[in-house]
Amino acid sequence: MNTKNVTIIGAGLAGCEAAWQLAQRGIGVTLHEMKPHKMTPAHHSAGFAELVCSNSLRSDQLENAVGLLKEELRRCGSLILRCADQTRVEAGGALAVDREAFSQAVTQAVREHPLITVVEGEVTEIPQGEVIIASGPLTSEGLSEEIAKLFPNTGYLNFYDAAAPIVTFESVDMDHAWFASRYDRGTADYINCAMSQEEYLAFWRELCQAEEAPVHGFEDGRVFEGCMPVEVMARRGEQTLCFGPLKPKGLPDPKTGKEPYAVVQLRRDNAQGTLYNIVGFQTHLKWGEQKRVFSMIPALAHAEYVRYGVMHRNTYLDSPRLLDAYYRVRGQERICFAGQISGVEG
Ligand SMILES: Cc1cc2nc3c(=O)[nH]c(=O)nc-3n(C[C@H](O)[C@H](O)[C@H](O)COP(=O)(O)OP(=O)(O)OC[C@H]3O[C@@H](n4cnc5c(N)ncnc54)[C@H](O)[C@@H]3O)c2cc1C
Repeated sequence: MNTKNVTIIGAGLAGCEAAWQLAQRGIGVTLHEMKPHKMTPAHHSAGFAELVCSNSLRSDQLENAVGLLKEELRRCGSLILRCADQTRVEAGGALAVDREAFSQAVTQAVREHPLITVVEGEVTEIPQGEVIIASGPLTSEGLSEEIAKLFPNTGYLNFYDAAAPIVTFESVDMDHAWFASRYDRGTADYINCAMSQEEYLAFWRELCQAEEAPVHGFEDGRVFEGCMPVEVMARRGEQTLCFGPLKPKGLPDPKTGKEPYAVVQLRRDNAQGTLYNIVGFQTHLKWGEQKRVFSMIPALAHAEYVRYGVMHRNTYLDSPRLLDAYYRVRGQERICFAGQISGVEG
């Protein structure tokens, strides 16, 4: 057996996959995870590989890059893909998972591996020896400061990102909603919540003015365009949402046979179908405001929220400048980075 040992910081998607791949090759791993002793502002559970927002890992079709990448990962023996396949929920052509079951499957596999030792608690200093830092976009402040010291005078980057709320299925008023996939592609996996022009405009006006939760240092200009808060998008124009997450195209209301003025889609969030997330509704409105404004969507008038949307500062490195081709720190090759902290998209 190999006597080498690698320390990994963070048992998220990247840290678990890295630990698994090393251990499968006979290399011992010490995996540090600060949950549940210390939680990031977006993580809620004690499990590893917790998905903090969407439960979709995007397309699973071979015709596009993200689907092809998944197939390559499967063929490389990816733990994350194996657990995602085991816990998938129907989502058209996308690979979406039951987030709890997925996290449990990854946690169990990692904890049971004889070559992986899990150490609970926050890491605030970069350990000796070979290290993989996989502490994610919400790396704790103490570790963040240590990482910054690796790159003096180079600027360590961040931007703002938000998560969408989750509601219970039983609280959705299906008199104002129906199951379907856009253009009837695949199975009818989404709940579609119709809005008339009048309802949409009233909703849009309130959304533009609703009260936001204070987030230190946040301005509208520094959000990630691919995951923009719904209220920031709304303020760009009356019709912006109708060409974005509330697009009605390909979603005729079975009651009228016509496309409504706007449609809010809900995607299943667990295997039982008891929880749904509001697609594209990442937000940093105050929680009371989320309930007030989103209840103007007729199907969500009495929605029960199991999680409200939240916004956070995301930390990442300018990898092309700071890391080599193997994601190792230039000049300190014993330290490498994995996962979203390296600047890759989610
Ligand atoms: C608000 C928000 C919304 C997002 N929405 C999406 C989305 O919809 N779709 C998408 O694909 N991606 C999304 N992402 C990105 C998502 O986080 C990544 O896709 C994925 O979780 C990144 O995996 P990772 O392993 O790099 O980091 P994480 O999964 O975040 O794992 C990092 C782990 O490190 C731990 N950790 C942090 N600091 C320390 C420390 N000092 N010591 C020990 N442990 C530590 C954390 O507790 C965590 O468990 C979102 C991120 C945020 C913050």
